[in-house]
Amino acid sequence: MLNSKIINWYEFNKRDLPWRNTSDPYKIWISEIMLQQTQVVTVVDYYYRFINSFPTIKALALADEQEVLNHWQGLGYYSRARNLHQAAKSIVDNYNGVFPDSFDEIIKLKGIGVYTASAISAFAFHLPYAAVDGNVYRVLSRLFGVSESTNSPKGKREFQSLADELMADAPPHLYNQAIIEFGALQCTAKNPDCEVCPLHAQCFAYINKQQNVFPAKKKKVKVIDRFFYYLYIYNEERFLMQQRGERDIWRNLFEFPLIELDNKIELVDLIKSEAWRSLLRDVKVEVTDQIVTKAHKLSHQNLHIEFVHIRVEDKEFEKFSSLIRVDKEAARDYPMPKPIEMHLARE
Ligand code: SF4
Repeated sequence: MLNSKIINWYEFNKRDLPWRNTSDPYKIWISEIMLQQTQVVTVVDYYYRFINSFPTIKALALADEQEVLNHWQGLGYYSRARNLHQAAKSIVDNYNGVFPDSFDEIIKLKGIGVYTASAISAFAFHLPYAAVDGNVYRVLSRLFGVSESTNSPKGKREFQSLADELMADAPPHLYNQAIIEFGALQCTAKNPDCEVCPLHAQCFAYINKQQNVFPAKKKKVKVIDRFFYYLYIYNEERFLMQQRGERDIWRNLFEFPLIELDNKIELVDLIKSEAWRSLLRDVKVEVTDQIVTKAHKLSHQNLHIEFVHIRVEDKEFEKFSSLIRVDKEAARDYPMPKPIEMHLARE
């Protein structure tokens, strides 16, 4: 049976990861959400810190949102942390603080989709749900020569039913861990080591030398370019920040005052712009530096970010009544987007 070959492979090759040594659904949930957009090596430290600070669902539910976001700083995709926080509150309100133990209840929680609900159901409660993430998708497409992509409903159905069939009556927690790890370490995206693979005699891609053909490429999503000019208004002790709104990337995070434009312009033209004048009005300023960074890539956006350093006298800070004065030593209290965090780290 293919599934027992995968499980055998797993027993010999698995990595020792902290969330594998528990059946606590809360800890499994935290790890799964962190792993959604982030590599395993990065997640381990964040996972320990998060669980230490919020050891139970109740502790997470009672925490301040800013504190939760601070623990997420550096992982990016902050909506994951906000959803965790809100879902923890709803578990306390609706399930008396006990993590629900059925797929149908788990999938109702904020930020949990089919994959994560299947993974938690299988890992924590040993329920027969086959989880299909990017690793599983790659293994199945190569093994069975499926050229459908998972970003169509038809493709999703096809891969889900293949995964269900392959799991058959294998222990769900073991099978799921095994095939996910198999995809991550053995059937890798680039240069899978097929000669030592225990499935190669049955693998469509190997037999047909088509490892690079599968999985089918997903259709490209249009990427937009945005031009951010951040004004780092500072003196020796402090600088200015503002909080982002609800409706855009980096929701509610803290950033320097921002001028966003549709295209790149030179500093002399930025200084003459209406946006600059309305922000700095009658303030005496001294532009001390301009730092152009590499494009910061998000999933559907390229952010072209420049930082303009503007030194002001301490008394001038009072003129920016709508902005937040931040003591340099207290900067870490403010959850902020990665480019801002990196910029401050360099200062
Ligand atoms: S033979 Fe190669 S392509 Fe096929 S499952 Fe094994 S590692 Fe993946």
